Amino acid sequence: MLFANLGARVALLEKHSGMDAYKVLCTHTLQPSCMPVVKTLGLLPPLERAGARRHVTHLWTRWGWIEPRPAPGREPLPHGLNVRRRTLDPLLRRLAAETPGVELRLGSGVNGLLEEDGRFTGVRVTANGTETRLTARLVVGADGRNSTVGSLSGLPVRLSANNRLGFLAQYRGLPDGDASRVWFLDPDTAFAFPNDDGVTVVACSPSKEHHASAFRADPEGSFERFVRALPDAPPIDQGERISKVIGTRDLPNVYRKPYGPGLALVGDAALATDPLWGVGCGWAFQSAQWLVDAVGPAVAGGGDVPAGLAAYGGKHRAALDSHHRLMEDYAAVRPFNVFERLLLSAAARDAGAARHYYAFASRLIDVKEFASPGSLLRAARVNAFHRLRNAPSNS
Ligand SMILES: Cc1cc2nc3c(=O)[nH]c(=O)nc-3n(C[C@H](O)[C@H](O)[C@H](O)COP(=O)(O)OP(=O)(O)OC[C@H]3O[C@@H](n4cnc5c(N)ncnc54)[C@H](O)[C@@H]3O)c2cc1C
Repeated sequence: MLFANLGARVALLEKHSGMDAYKVLCTHTLQPSCMPVVKTLGLLPPLERAGARRHVTHLWTRWGWIEPRPAPGREPLPHGLNVRRRTLDPLLRRLAAETPGVELRLGSGVNGLLEEDGRFTGVRVTANGTETRLTARLVVGADGRNSTVGSLSGLPVRLSANNRLGFLAQYRGLPDGDASRVWFLDPDTAFAFPNDDGVTVVACSPSKEHHASAFRADPEGSFERFVRALPDAPPIDQGERISKVIGTRDLPNVYRKPYGPGLALVGDAALATDPLWGVGCGWAFQSAQWLVDAVGPAVAGGGDVPAGLAAYGGKHRAALDSHHRLMEDYAAVRPFNVFERLLLSAAARDAGAARHYYAFASRLIDVKEFASPGSLLRAARVNAFHRLRNAPSNS
């Protein structure tokens, strides 16, 4: 859609043949960081008409709940959206199909890349059992975590282990508010996201070491026991579970170089990071925007595509690399480090520190700003006052 809006002709190849196909294994919370792209695409009004819910995130920590609120007299906090993929994916696909310049070809699976003189020049596509070739000025792999385009491209890839499981289920009729809730049990995590149509998505990411065998033997029972044991647990027994408990035991982190000659990767195809942080959908929107900003005019108008691709690579790295490195490190399953403990405990005790943590979790600020000397100092001051206030009196 973004390319076509600049005047490019876009063949949008989707292996699923149904207009209503959607990704099932996802808790689909959209972070505030991607709202500008969602708005540029004209997606916010139809999503809200379809029931998408604006949310901020509250986080349980052993120091108490972090419940970010706007500063007195200031604008509301930037919000994210909770909307099920069964709503989001078809809506986005229909909007794309209606965009002048986009030709949506359903049931078209990409299974090969064309190359000429060291540059990718198109794809091989199979539709209805027939293989065809399609050439293009630019090939974009937006084909998800197990990206065919990414692996065929041979671009350098960094893999790292994720030592947590990921399980989720949908419930109807839970008495939840508008906030998304995350439990940082350190190192296990859990989530409850109120979505469209009165559905709450409940999920957990427990460590494999302590939970893999129980979840293998009895996924449903283990999941519901885990959720019931949460502090201030979502009252799942007051609602109705309307989905199976689904999940996965193997979600390695995959980070590919996001461009090569004549080719770019966006979304999970470039970076499939730990879903614990709920950033993948947002980063798919954002990376598409960065790509089109960098290379769109050249693709649509016949300019310098290689320079645009290099600029995209630089932007992708600058925006996401430090976030992903921290996520990779945490995916190994370690306790919070000293800086995280300092910043999270302060956020549970102080409104300004809560807003600072929220800006980071919303991916509106980077790791450097999150853990800047100034923020660490402010957090240390919050904690020192907290200790003073709570010190036992001698009198
Ligand atoms: C358990 C779990 C929970 C998650 N929770 C969240 C969350 O709360 N928030 C969040 O932001 N992210 C979450 N994610 C991550 C999120 O699902 C992904 O980051 C996001 O879907 C990436 O979007 P994408 O468009 O890059 O890829 P996808 O959504 O995977 O879309 C890829 C598309 O390409 C098509 N395709 C694939 N191969 C081909 C081919 N060869 N030819 C043609 N078409 C093809 C697919 O059919 C699909 O339509 C979660 C992931 C998991 C596993």
